[in-house]
Amino acid sequence: MLKRSLYVRIVGTFITVVVLSVLISYFTMSFFFHNEVIFDEEVKNVTSGVAEIIELTELEDVPALVETFQTYYFNIMIFHESGEPLLDQYPSIPLSDSSIIDVFYSAEEDPVILPHGKREASRVAGIPIEIEQEPYALFLHLDYEEEMLSIKKLVVSSLLFVLLIGSLLILLASRRLVTPIKKLTNAAKEMAKGNFSVRLKSKDKDEVGELITSFNHMASEVEKIDKMREDFVSSVSHEIQSPLTSIRGFTKAIQDEVVPKQNEKEYLDIIYQETERLSRLSENLLRLASLDSEHHPYHPEVYKLDEQIRRTVLATEPQWKSKNLQILLELDTVEIYADQDLLEQVWLNLFINAIKYSPPEGEIHIHIQEDTSGVKVSIKDYGKGIPEEAIPYLFDRFFKVDKARTNSIAGNGLGLSIVKKIVMIHHFSIEVSSKEGEGSVFTVLIPKQQNDTGQTS
Ligand code: ADP
Repeated sequence: MLKRSLYVRIVGTFITVVVLSVLISYFTMSFFFHNEVIFDEEVKNVTSGVAEIIELTELEDVPALVETFQTYYFNIMIFHESGEPLLDQYPSIPLSDSSIIDVFYSAEEDPVILPHGKREASRVAGIPIEIEQEPYALFLHLDYEEEMLSIKKLVVSSLLFVLLIGSLLILLASRRLVTPIKKLTNAAKEMAKGNFSVRLKSKDKDEVGELITSFNHMASEVEKIDKMREDFVSSVSHEIQSPLTSIRGFTKAIQDEVVPKQNEKEYLDIIYQETERLSRLSENLLRLASLDSEHHPYHPEVYKLDEQIRRTVLATEPQWKSKNLQILLELDTVEIYADQDLLEQVWLNLFINAIKYSPPEGEIHIHIQEDTSGVKVSIKDYGKGIPEEAIPYLFDRFFKVDKARTNSIAGNGLGLSIVKKIVMIHHFSIEVSSKEGEGSVFTVLIPKQQNDTGQTS
């Protein structure tokens, strides 16, 4: 359908353009020839020349001379002033009754071009002459009508030939144009069916080539998004399914009284932790969805960063106290321009991770340092560390280094992706350096212009 209509349009446009150009040029050519001043001049010159020759000729030699002229392309008529023709045999020259008077009473010196009707390449010119002191009117008729007709035929037939060859070539050329578009349509249909792996080949660098490159780019982006969506759904289902399985298992065990009475509290604790985990998961998912949306709340202001960090440490006291951790703070007094609520989430997530992955009795260092480039906030622990190969994926959603989850470290792999998202919203950056068995440092970099001017970039 598309192929046919595009073919029809291209070929139709071409033929219309050619036919119109042929018609326009044909009619303009005829029009200009009809009014051709140069042609008139030519006829006048010939007439004057012939008049001079005849005037120099004896009266009795005039018929022979006229006959000689007839053999060329012009006919001649000579009339006496009285209206009497000079010669017996006259070729048919289209003269009107007033022609003789027109010639004698013309104000011009030059020969007069008489009205030539509809014929394009035919002219009659008249001039008064004297033969042996007698006044005569000489008429000369130049007729190229037949030659004109054959030229026209030649022009029209070559234009028609051009039209024919051109139509054939345009038919082939438009196939070259339409084929990639047809392929694109089929590929788009494939994509609509859910096959995102379709790609098209194109060597051309023209607009169609660009369209194909853009299509391939779009297809690979859609494929990536689809893959992410699939992974996301399966991760969410997994994260929901595993706590539900343990909740179901433990409640059933308690119900069936399989669990010894003295262990019941321990099992109830696990159930409680699992419900907490589920609730954290839904909280984090909601937070991420809100951050992902275009209209997430973002209210930056200037505030004291060191105070915010102190508050975070205080708020998490029960967690680090229960592990007997030592928190060492080295905080420069610094003001930054950011969304307080969002950044609080960043410090909380990083600090809670440091607590989670630190051994009991361990240390955590929090450092705020300001230099010429900006403010650096680093949270350092001496815990289990992160394997090098895991670092590139650390901020991915649902990424966990240790897939086999233990109850004491029950995360859902969303904490760092929330941190990354908030950091990106602020145009800050985050770095990780870690060594397995030695610990990790997470550093948030707040560039200069965003903290002391009070303006976001
Ligand atoms: P979770 O809620 O599972 O901690 P995060 O997104 O916060 O999710 O972290 C992703 C993974 O990165 C964690 O599962 C953990 O394996 C690793 N990780 C994060 N912070 C630390 C840290 N301070 N020390 C060691 N590993 C860490």
